[in-house]
Amino acid sequence: MSAREIAAEAAARFAALEADERYQGHLGRVDLSREVLRWAHDAFGDDVTLASSMGDEVLVELTAQSAPGIDVFFLDTGFHFEETLRTRDHYAGRVRLRTVLPLLTVEEQGREHGERLYERDPDGCCAIRKVEPLNRAISGRSAWITGMRRVDAPTRTDIDLVGWDERRGMVKINPIAAWSDDDVDRFAFEEDVFLNPLRERGYPSIGCAPCTRAVAAGEDPRAGRWAGTSKTECGLHT
Ligand code: SF4
Repeated sequence: MSAREIAAEAAARFAALEADERYQGHLGRVDLSREVLRWAHDAFGDDVTLASSMGDEVLVELTAQSAPGIDVFFLDTGFHFEETLRTRDHYAGRVRLRTVLPLLTVEEQGREHGERLYERDPDGCCAIRKVEPLNRAISGRSAWITGMRRVDAPTRTDIDLVGWDERRGMVKINPIAAWSDDDVDRFAFEEDVFLNPLRERGYPSIGCAPCTRAVAAGEDPRAGRWAGTSKTECGLHT
């Protein structure tokens, strides 16, 4: 079977399981996510890789518990909070983690494109520091795994547990797509998940330091990302 056929078969199977009463409720959704991760590793082995921003700690912990053989990579944009790098260091001991760097250092980018490109052209900055390295990190593989959830943004409400990434021509797997914010909080509490310390300081959604601010109580959790601009996605998933 081609990767596309494997994805179609798995998408239908996991969609049916998602509707099954055994997988309703918090523990049911967690169990199904574990099954998706195990399936991904069994089906693709080293041909699947998981992209983590270390703002999706529950997914990395779930992977460590359920399918620790999965290859995981972290995009180090050079603009991360120190707390995010500490989170990366914690999980380096729990999963097979590699760090992927942009082709240009922050200094080289400043020389070639001017300082603080993120202020003048955030799409251009994300293209250099996120999109190109991600495409390089997953190139040649059949499948990749993300921490995307339907509740993250209006652009994500219809994502499947297993789908097909048309743009990249590969399987795209979203094991925690169905998780609510409460599922994330409960799993983090029940499993004593190591969380990015920024979470306690008002950062429910964590990206690069220059483009992320804390949010106030009651504010949209993603309001702190590229605040003051119309940008809502880094370009990895669009
Ligand atoms: S999130 Fe901001 S700093 Fe990070 S790559 Fe995108 S524009 Fe650059």
